[in-house]
Amino acid sequence: MSHILTDVEMVRLSYNDIHTAIQKAAPKIKEEFAPTLFIAIGGGGFIPARILRTQVKVDQDGKKRNIPIQAVGLVLYEAMGGVEEKVGTEVVRTQWLDFSTLGQNFSHGGLLGRRILVVDEVDDTRTTLTYTIRELQSDIDKQLAAVEDETERERLRKETKLGIFVVHNKLKPKAGQLPDDVAYFSAVDTPDVWLAYPWECDGDIDAHDALRVHNPKV
Ligand code: 5GP
Repeated sequence: MSHILTDVEMVRLSYNDIHTAIQKAAPKIKEEFAPTLFIAIGGGGFIPARILRTQVKVDQDGKKRNIPIQAVGLVLYEAMGGVEEKVGTEVVRTQWLDFSTLGQNFSHGGLLGRRILVVDEVDDTRTTLTYTIRELQSDIDKQLAAVEDETERERLRKETKLGIFVVHNKLKPKAGQLPDDVAYFSAVDTPDVWLAYPWECDGDIDAHDALRVHNPKV
């Protein structure tokens, strides 16, 4: 029987699908961005960030060291609004960075001079990622403003980098636009289908995995 692909077809993913995709993407991320801090967007970015951490360690004094993972919590609300009943979207913070601990061993709050990779599971409309990058850039700007020495401030401005890693990027028109200087990595580019992640399965996980044979070829 042939499989008819609809716009919102569901693609079920196993843990191993995600692990393998991240493992394949890791060398490029290490070579081109070399992150020194992960910021996982919860909940979907937590497991991908943890998988990536194993694949992208920092080489220091002949030893492989883990890159720290910080977490932020964001919820995307969709609200019907306006006369034309267009879908409006709003990102709400449920958790943000704690600079008192993040900045403990750093002189200016903990973001400056670091190559910060934001990790999420999927880039759909890009609203969440655009919001996160805008907020992080605003925190970076505040920390830069607190650096009194101008030469030091400009050095830190240059050294501080923002990047994004998503497991899946849906190829579709995006609502948000990212600044050009933000590095972008996706493990897999997909059409606009619904992705069912293994950690969202509230039924039988073996049955979820078994149903992957019915996945449309994407
Ligand atoms: P955005 O539209 O801001 O790029 O994505 C917002 C959030 O919607 C994602 O972080 C994710 O939680 C959820 N989302 C979007 N598309 C999918 C999908 O195909 N599958 C799942 N499980 N969540 C999705």
